[in-house]
Amino acid sequence: MKTENKPLSRRRFSLGLAMAPLALAATPQFEAQEAAKKTTAAPPDKNANPQPQTKKRWQIYEEEHFAHPLVFERHDIQPKVQPFALSDVTLAPDGPYAQSRAWSRGFMLRITPDRLLHNFRVTAGLPSTAVPLGGNEKPDSLLRGHWVGHYMSGCALLYASTGDAEIKARGDAIVAGIAECQSKLAPGGYVSAFPQTEFDRLEMGQKVWAPFYTLHKLMAGLLDMHEHTGSTQALDVVVKMAAWVDNWTASPSEDRMQEILNEEFGGMGEVLYNLAAVTGEDRWARTGDRFQKKIFLRPLLNRCDELEQLHANTHIPQVIAAARRHELTGDSRFSAIPEFFWETVVESRTFAPGGSGTMERWVTHANHLAWEMKSSSEHQECCCAYNMMKLTRHLYGWQPQMRYVEYYERNLLNHRLGTIEPETGHTTYFLSMAPAAWKTIGTEDQTFWCCNGTALEEFAKLQNSVYFHDDDSLYVNLYVASDLDWKTRGVRLKQETQFPREPRTRLTIVAAPQEKWTLRLRVPSWTNADARILVNGTPIDAQPQPGTYVNLNRSWKPGDRVELEMPMRLTREPLGDDPALQAFLYGPVVLAGQFPLGQLSFNMLHKSEEPNVKAAPLAVPTLAEKGDRLEQWILPVDGQQLTFRAAGTAGEEVTLKPLNESWQRFNVYFRVSS
Ligand SMILES: [Zn+2]
Repeated sequence: MKTENKPLSRRRFSLGLAMAPLALAATPQFEAQEAAKKTTAAPPDKNANPQPQTKKRWQIYEEEHFAHPLVFERHDIQPKVQPFALSDVTLAPDGPYAQSRAWSRGFMLRITPDRLLHNFRVTAGLPSTAVPLGGNEKPDSLLRGHWVGHYMSGCALLYASTGDAEIKARGDAIVAGIAECQSKLAPGGYVSAFPQTEFDRLEMGQKVWAPFYTLHKLMAGLLDMHEHTGSTQALDVVVKMAAWVDNWTASPSEDRMQEILNEEFGGMGEVLYNLAAVTGEDRWARTGDRFQKKIFLRPLLNRCDELEQLHANTHIPQVIAAARRHELTGDSRFSAIPEFFWETVVESRTFAPGGSGTMERWVTHANHLAWEMKSSSEHQECCCAYNMMKLTRHLYGWQPQMRYVEYYERNLLNHRLGTIEPETGHTTYFLSMAPAAWKTIGTEDQTFWCCNGTALEEFAKLQNSVYFHDDDSLYVNLYVASDLDWKTRGVRLKQETQFPREPRTRLTIVAAPQEKWTLRLRVPSWTNADARILVNGTPIDAQPQPGTYVNLNRSWKPGDRVELEMPMRLTREPLGDDPALQAFLYGPVVLAGQFPLGQLSFNMLHKSEEPNVKAAPLAVPTLAEKGDRLEQWILPVDGQQLTFRAAGTAGEEVTLKPLNESWQRFNVYFRVSS
């Protein structure tokens, strides 16, 4: 969640100031951003010349790309592959995915609807005796209500995944409560946990904290409740809210609206495009077009990475909105933007576990991750990982390329599964790459960070990218124990695996039509030439090539078995600006050095958003490289799966385990000495 509007006494503000001179010197766009911010800090002065004296880089691009207001014309594109409905894929009950989902569900059930609705009722002038929530949901927080939106999405997705009636009832109770508040408030459709005056302040250029960001969470939650549970009440409420947004955004000039977009507004564009798709009413998409921020989109359209100093999770949802606009219009500008954005973020701004950003931002030039790592302990905000994965699913639908799946797997396994605390279901804000970091975890009812809300959605739909399909092909992308029911083709299939605890997966056809269809089995890039595919126990003729799909076209019969053996190997990923700093992986599993948690206070573990490693210094050994091959000096620990040991230069032994299972202090990037 964007932080510059939080109280100035926060520690992070002084940290930001400390870094500012370096950033200013390095990034011309920072000046443009700051100039843009200043225009929103005070009401617009009609006599002032808003144009800078000299043109900035972003201004001399081919401005005609966005010189005119957008015109929305519905023309749906046909994706090449599609995901399955959540209910078509059932997770095996005892694997790590279903386990994480159960922990998150337990947390959701412990937070009661009356507490979630408290601020809405107070704002609407309705009585409430509930104990208010704390943290970012406390009664005077300007973000209050955002977590309630995530909660509705979580309920909707969980119900779609499992048919969980208890969770659906929770979602229905929230929808009904918000509907009651909406009808109590003035006509026009506005409803939120904070009063409409926050939007007056936004319009006047006064200090606010992302009111559209919070409104987006509510609208997305309501639309999810409609789409996944069939709630007509939720659709009614969100349509009224959209009408209010349409009216509000129709007032400012386009130039003024572009200035207003400098305040974080989440996925407003996305939810409005989604509403247009669901209702068939272009009005909502035209409203969504008002949330296309041209100053951000122009460089991306020209394949220029000018992300320095931009707040990451403010902008990733804007790229998702661009992707949705492309899907509804076929406008190629809005496919080029997400494609380039994804490439530059994933290839040059992403840490080994799959996350991006430092202090919630892209703080410097591309390919400076070592610099980022040292500059702060706040890396890889969870919301960013979640939203990058969401974007990836759109891109994969357009072009089912292996690189998208590989990125998705990396993030899901290491970042997402690694940020939910076992049993409590509490989640982290960041996944720090600082030396000897630890995971700081939210509390039961006094935190409600943005990332805690995002997690409710994440852990309700973990199975959504295991399989994809086109008309007559099934893509098996992820190795996750699960059952698939491909209803339109009459195919049912069971996947059994302990992956990554075993380097293989087994598929059994449970039901199939008589005609031929193609099973496209992903052979991961991280395996080696010994990978094998067996059909009914017999190896296929072709040698599977890592990083490709093997296409098995035949008339499948119930009982047919396909096995994929994919030996895992050790690899390393040096950082571009300091190649002696290296992360180690076994297959797709990021390994982390293990260090004792020691005496860390409750506040250091739970109240702070990031590990303050400077307050609890712990020396991390430099690893001694002994031999050309990693297998010569990173050795398996007998009897312990996915566990290795390596020696430090002073003879210390370091144990390496999967990052996603690391709940002590951990270290991902080691300095290596040969
Ligand atoms: Zn977040």
